[in-house]
Amino acid sequence: MNSANISERRRQTRNKVYRALYDSQEPLSKQALALKLDMSLPTIYQNVAELLDMGLIEYTGAQNSSGGRPAMQMRAVANARYAIGVFISIDSLNFALTNLMCGVLAFKEVRHKLPLFGESFNQYFCSQLESFIDENNIERSKLLGVGICLSGIIQPENMLVFYAPPLNLRNVSIKAFIDNIPYPVHVENDANSGGFAEWFNDSSGESIAFLSLAWGVGGATFVNGDKFSGANQRSGEFGHMCIEYNGRPCACGKRGCLEAYCSSSRISSELGMTLEEFFTQLSLGNRELQEIWDDYIKHLAIGVHNIRMALDCRIVIGGEMSSYLVPHMPRLCRMVAACDPFAADCDYVSLAKYSGVGAPLGTALHFVKDFLDFNI
Ligand SMILES: [Zn+2]
Repeated sequence: MNSANISERRRQTRNKVYRALYDSQEPLSKQALALKLDMSLPTIYQNVAELLDMGLIEYTGAQNSSGGRPAMQMRAVANARYAIGVFISIDSLNFALTNLMCGVLAFKEVRHKLPLFGESFNQYFCSQLESFIDENNIERSKLLGVGICLSGIIQPENMLVFYAPPLNLRNVSIKAFIDNIPYPVHVENDANSGGFAEWFNDSSGESIAFLSLAWGVGGATFVNGDKFSGANQRSGEFGHMCIEYNGRPCACGKRGCLEAYCSSSRISSELGMTLEEFFTQLSLGNRELQEIWDDYIKHLAIGVHNIRMALDCRIVIGGEMSSYLVPHMPRLCRMVAACDPFAADCDYVSLAKYSGVGAPLGTALHFVKDFLDFNI
């Protein structure tokens, strides 16, 4: 066995010791670790010493003991590393900060009026990023990287935003933008990152389909422990499933797509109002808006049902619409169940846990996942 294999094997052992502490709800002693992992005490001592040295674990105190010397307890250090995610929209930047425990530690929205990915935007982005780091007292050496997400089709290998109708972008290079950021960068679509946040932070590890309802309608599927991308990176393009032959025109140029019926813009900007105003008017009994909403929810039920029939997994609805859907879920679920030949209810549909912050959190979590899997 060569030395590269030996060091990789040693790393994997260290990773196992770390993960046992990381995944444990309670602090553990070296003896408990040895039992749990079926490793010898000298092996545990050596790996614990390395992990302490790396600042990834810490002692929490002594275990209550009925006799003998109390054993020192240890746990993973949540703030040993950080990652930042940023959702870029046409008029705002949403920053989210996470650590190794994967929750949202801080969130900040800043408004802008700059043309996306021009020189002034790139500079503005970096200055806002540095401010966010300073405001949260993050040591830069502990920052794993910065995830970027936006509503559009991204080609990361070419550093290109290929097509992003909500941002008015087509074939725009983001190379200069990425080069300007002095940290590792990961760029992806916002529906992918929103779905990743839901899936990665769900301890069940079940496969999910994530349906993102916003200006655009998109999604992502996470199957058997990983994202399923498809042959052309277009898996989860639920927004362009045809649900009405020759129906309403869609931003993609075709007709009858789910997006044409269930985008947030259909019930906001297209009607000259905000989502807030739409739902306020709806609750006051506006009949015209009620008709539009009935049509919206009917088509949403068809879309959800089709996803269920194709994938037979849990469906999580996210995007900016998800927070407004709370009071409408019982009706949506009744309509989905009415389509379903196999189930009497639709307990497989739920709303996103991280509705407002899912996209920036998810893109930051890619760095955390890589760190936990490969760098410890
Ligand atoms: Zn379409």
